[in-house]
Amino acid sequence: MAKSKNMHIATKVIHVGGEPDKETGSIMPPIFQTSTYVQSSPGKHSGYEYTRSHNPTRTRLEDNLASLENAKHALVTASGLSMMTLIMHAFAKGTKILCGDDVYGGTYRLFTTVFKDFHEFKFIDTTDVKEVEKAVKEFKPKVIWLETPTNPMLKITDIFKVCQIAKKHKIQSFVDNTFMSPYFQRPLELGADVVVHSMTKYINGHSDVVGGCMMTNSKSFYNKIFTLQNSIGPQQSPFDSWLVLRGIKTLAIRMEAHQKNAMEIAKWLESHKMVESVIYPGLKSHPGHKIAKKQMLGFGGMITFFVKGGLKESKRFLEKVKLFALAESLGGVESLIEHPAIMTHASVPKNIREDLGIKDNLIRLSVGIENIHDLKEDLENAFNAIKKKK
Ligand SMILES: *Cc1c(COP(=O)(O)O)cnc(C)c1O
Repeated sequence: MAKSKNMHIATKVIHVGGEPDKETGSIMPPIFQTSTYVQSSPGKHSGYEYTRSHNPTRTRLEDNLASLENAKHALVTASGLSMMTLIMHAFAKGTKILCGDDVYGGTYRLFTTVFKDFHEFKFIDTTDVKEVEKAVKEFKPKVIWLETPTNPMLKITDIFKVCQIAKKHKIQSFVDNTFMSPYFQRPLELGADVVVHSMTKYINGHSDVVGGCMMTNSKSFYNKIFTLQNSIGPQQSPFDSWLVLRGIKTLAIRMEAHQKNAMEIAKWLESHKMVESVIYPGLKSHPGHKIAKKQMLGFGGMITFFVKGGLKESKRFLEKVKLFALAESLGGVESLIEHPAIMTHASVPKNIREDLGIKDNLIRLSVGIENIHDLKEDLENAFNAIKKKK
C-alpha cells in the first residue's frame, strides 16, 4: 500500500484499500463472496480462515476507514447499532456511562432498554462543559459517549474540552461521528479514544447499505472489539463492504456538495416568512457556531427547522414535498425529509422529547446533492400548500 499518511482525504477515499487486484489487475477490488478459505496444511493459511472472522473485501474497507480518521485500527460491522452493541459488551458489568442527552433515537433505545440492566447510564447536556465537569465529579463515569452535532437538534459539543476532562479522570471517550463523516470532523485528533460511525449514512452515501464501524489508535481496545465481533457475529457481508468501498470513493465531493446546498437552504429558510427558526451549525445564529468552526472542517448537510404552526401544518408540509423524500435515515445523495417526533424519535418518551425541544412543528432535512434551485422550489411549493389550506 502507498504511504497514505501524506495523502489528502480526497485521495485516500479512492486509493487506500482500493488497490488493483494483484492476481488479475482488475482495477476494482473483487468481492470475496466466500465463507471459508483453503488451508495448505492444518492451521496454515494466509490470515483468512472464516468470513465471520476476516474477509479480504472487508479488510480493504477497514484499511480505507482507518486512514480517513488517521487511526491505526478500524473494524466494520453489519450496522451502526451492532457496533455500539459490541462496544457495550466490552465494558465490565455496571460500568458508569455518561452520555449526551440528544443522541440518535436508536442509540438511546439500545442504552435504555437492552443495556439498562448491565450498565449505569446518565444523560446530560454535553454542550455545557461545566455540566460535564459536575457530572464527572458526582457520577464518576468510566465512559463518556458523545454525539456531535446531535440528532435532530444539531447541538455542538466541544470535543477537545470534554476529552481533556475525560483524560484527566481516566475516562474512555467515544464520539459518534456519523453526521460529519471523517471528511468534516476527526475526533481522534481532538483527543477522543474511539470514533464510531453508522456507515449507512454519509460514509456509504447512497442509501443502499446498512453498516457500522469504529476507529481507534488503541490496539488493546481494537482486539477486544474484534474478539467480541468474532464471538457474537454481527459482521458485514462481503457484498455490502464492497458497496461501501464503492460509495466512499466520492465522500469528499459529496460532503462538499451537501454542505454547499445545506448552507444555501439554511440561509433561505432563515429569512422565510413561514419558518419560525432554523438550526444549522453554519449559521451565525447557531449557539454552537464558534465551536463548530473550531472543530469541524465544514458544517454538513443536516438542517432542522421549525415551521410556523403545529402538527397539522408540519404534516401538510411533509405530504406536499415531492423531491425531498419522506423517509427516515440521512446522508444519501438524494434529499430526505422527516418528522422526528413521529418518525426517528418516536422511541424517545414524549416528555423527554419535548424537554429536548423536539416539538411537533420540527422538521429535519437531509439535504442531498441535487440542483439547489430544484430543492428550493420543492420546499417553496410545500410552504404555499400550507398557506392555501389556512
Ligand atoms: C443511523 C445512526 C445510528 C445507527 O446506525 P445504523 O446503521 O442505523 O444501525 C447511530 N448514530 C447515528 C448518529 C445515526 O444517524
